[in-house]
Amino acid sequence: MTNQEIFQRAQQTIPGGVNSPVRAFKSVGGTPRFIAKANGAYIWDIEGKQYIDYLGSWGPAIVGHAHPEVLAAVQEAATKGLSFGAPTEGEVILAEKICELIPSIEQVRLVSSGTEATMSAIRLARGATGRNKIIKFEGCYHGHSDSLLVKAGSGLLTFGNPSSAGVPQEFVSHTIVLPFNNLEEVKKAFAEVGQDIACIIVEPVAGNMNLVKPQAGFLEGLRELCTQYGALLIFDEVMTGFRAGPKGVQGLTNITPDLTTLAKVIGGGMPVGAFGGRQDIMQQIAPLGAVYQAGTLSGNPVSVAAGLKTLEILSRPGFYDVLSKTTTELVNGLSDLARQHNVTFSADSIGGMFGIYFRENIPTSFAEVQQSNIQAFNVFFHAMLDEGVHLAPSAFEAGFVSASHTEEILAKTFAAADKAFVTVA
Ligand code: PLP
Repeated sequence: MTNQEIFQRAQQTIPGGVNSPVRAFKSVGGTPRFIAKANGAYIWDIEGKQYIDYLGSWGPAIVGHAHPEVLAAVQEAATKGLSFGAPTEGEVILAEKICELIPSIEQVRLVSSGTEATMSAIRLARGATGRNKIIKFEGCYHGHSDSLLVKAGSGLLTFGNPSSAGVPQEFVSHTIVLPFNNLEEVKKAFAEVGQDIACIIVEPVAGNMNLVKPQAGFLEGLRELCTQYGALLIFDEVMTGFRAGPKGVQGLTNITPDLTTLAKVIGGGMPVGAFGGRQDIMQQIAPLGAVYQAGTLSGNPVSVAAGLKTLEILSRPGFYDVLSKTTTELVNGLSDLARQHNVTFSADSIGGMFGIYFRENIPTSFAEVQQSNIQAFNVFFHAMLDEGVHLAPSAFEAGFVSASHTEEILAKTFAAADKAFVTVA
């Protein structure tokens, strides 16, 4: 069966043929590849074609696909039963590991996705502060819960508009959407309604508008404002946690958020999320406190086994040095090739995540990413795919490198890019 055939078939029973919209290739056009298997840095589609994978399941596959140690841990856990709906020792060990590795997390609760983690963290922030309003930033994605599916309104304190049908305006009337990296706007919002703001939620390095780093002083400013006004600072490290560095972005910046959300890497490819932080705040969750949160499959034993083994592998000496060296070499190599082909291009990376932009300079905001040459990205994307390199299918997504991406794989990537840039130039 071809990708085209199964995509047609999928659309009969699955809306758009996919179970998460970006997989449908809507922004780049063409037919998504239906994946049959993956190993290390490679994936294979159902036609048997091999690709070097820079999607890494959108982040989780940091040790490489189908890592033998992770598979063994999953298999062992699975033989003991798939889910109990009662506590297990593995959950305790994973919670202890997360608290040990990320010092701002004194207590943590496991959930099954990043969406659940952020949704619960917001509820907790509102419950703990007794306030309703939240600040999020344009271009940051925090999952698909109602109050976070919001796009910016037209003026500073115009509260956001739903970015999805089915979200009542009332549900987002407490969400203030501000431009990323613009501390002045945040200051103004606090000056106006600071006593009503429960929290700021931010991707401390944004990875859902392509990769956009915080400018000097931005995160520090958010921390100061939250402290000054008694609001909570939530770092959404669902993507950056154990990906940007061994302690996430907070470890790199030494900024201590009140709450942190995690997912992706901590599940090693299985469904896991987590939110955690200051003990006095976390103790306000049920069954201790009045903020309700629950989950049938929370702390699932098989997922926990995958997550624990993954965290063990990436805690080994030198893991992040190699990962970030590979990722830096990747973006430098692509930038050099673009220059040789006279293609307007820039690229950036942090730890094991990267961004490529068909524009002169590395962007600092969603608006700047939108000003890049999206058409050029789309052409490049398809040319790379034809050459056997699988990138995220949108100019607004970051890319991911794993420990399995060797020098040889980088060399193959550059050979593909050398041809792909010709199609863009
Ligand atoms: N937060 C961030 C920063 C994310 O990147 C994502 C997903 O990409 C989410 C939250 C939502 O996570 P999930 O897709 O596991 O629900």
